[in-house]
Amino acid sequence: MIKKILLLTALLSLGLVSAFFISPTFSAKNNSNVELASESPQVTVPVELPLEQRYPYVVPPKTSLSQVLRSLDISAQEIHSIVQAAMPHRNLARIVPGTRFQLFYSEQDPSEFRGIKFRFTPQEIIHVQRVDGTWHAEKIIKPVTTKVVTFKGVVKSSLWESAAEAKMNPTLISELAEIFAWQVDFAREVQVNDRWRLSVEQEFIGNEAIGWGSILSAEYINSGVAYTAVLFRKGDEDLGYFAPDGSSLKKMFLKSPIQYGRISSKFQKRRFHPVLKTARPHLGVDYAAPTGTPIRAVGDGRVTLAGWSGGGGNVIKIRHNSTYETAYKHLSRFAKGIKSGTKVVQGQTIGYVGSTGLSTGPHLHFEFFVAGRYTDPLSQKFPQAAAVPSIHLADFSASKASFLSQLPEWDFN
Ligand SMILES: [Zn+2]
Repeated sequence: MIKKILLLTALLSLGLVSAFFISPTFSAKNNSNVELASESPQVTVPVELPLEQRYPYVVPPKTSLSQVLRSLDISAQEIHSIVQAAMPHRNLARIVPGTRFQLFYSEQDPSEFRGIKFRFTPQEIIHVQRVDGTWHAEKIIKPVTTKVVTFKGVVKSSLWESAAEAKMNPTLISELAEIFAWQVDFAREVQVNDRWRLSVEQEFIGNEAIGWGSILSAEYINSGVAYTAVLFRKGDEDLGYFAPDGSSLKKMFLKSPIQYGRISSKFQKRRFHPVLKTARPHLGVDYAAPTGTPIRAVGDGRVTLAGWSGGGGNVIKIRHNSTYETAYKHLSRFAKGIKSGTKVVQGQTIGYVGSTGLSTGPHLHFEFFVAGRYTDPLSQKFPQAAAVPSIHLADFSASKASFLSQLPEWDFN
């Protein structure tokens, strides 16, 4: 059974070129074939075989290493020696399913088993081999290299689709949305023909891409207005994103307490109240969103109320400083640890959308106070967070010039 699983895995992973690799001596043989195939003069980078060919075997689920190796005709004694030799680096008795490995055989005598190489992570390899009759294990840590890659897109239907169209990993478009969260409300201000571009570090081991590093620079054009962000990197440390002039992209308050929701009722001095059936001002902004949608603190501050408050139902009030306060009403529940006196930071989830108190359906009623007075948050220009300190401006200018120059050219019409 195990043998079948292994064979199937090997066949699947080797794909069309499988016939070639079934022989246990494939390793040396294939490397030379690949070199032949890449002899064309244009090729300067050495070609590396795909992972599935370099490590054709996979430990199946619910299987011990011993079971797997026994099915590959490796003796119990050899397995014992391999496990013992690897012990200083890894306990192979607890190998994780999905771990890939390759086997080595003697070139003179292909029936003579010589060694095994495990790939625990793209970075960590353990090579166990028999040298002069004894087994030795060596741990190999592969160096990670980074390369800058660029992407750009135009919004045709949604931001997410523009990323898919650009063949970009969706986590990167989320990161871009986080970078510009203070400039653009990505839940409701994205427009058709908005454009974006970015440069980002991609991490490699050899030729194998293993993940993404930091976005170095990015631009988002929203309804014709361009917002540019550049990473401030000082030495090895990433110190956040700033506008090219060194001013902060962050503001004291987020543009919305809800990441994905629509405004169902704006701030109005006079309005007909749907429940009370009388003319009453609407002194906040309503966000329609399903029950349970997380609500974010729009700024740093301290909770001054987290409890039941009549028509407001479950209410949270936050005091940001001596000037600004915000309130969040009709919550289904409070986030863990949120009570009067709790310190909160911008973007922290404080509670969840509900319909408690005087409410016709699940929504967040959000209030914004300036010096104790009800104010329309959508009409406010919020104060900016701190800019790059003047003593660091020279460093910032240097990294800025390099990162901005790595943005791709626009080529849309
Ligand atoms: Zn309301």
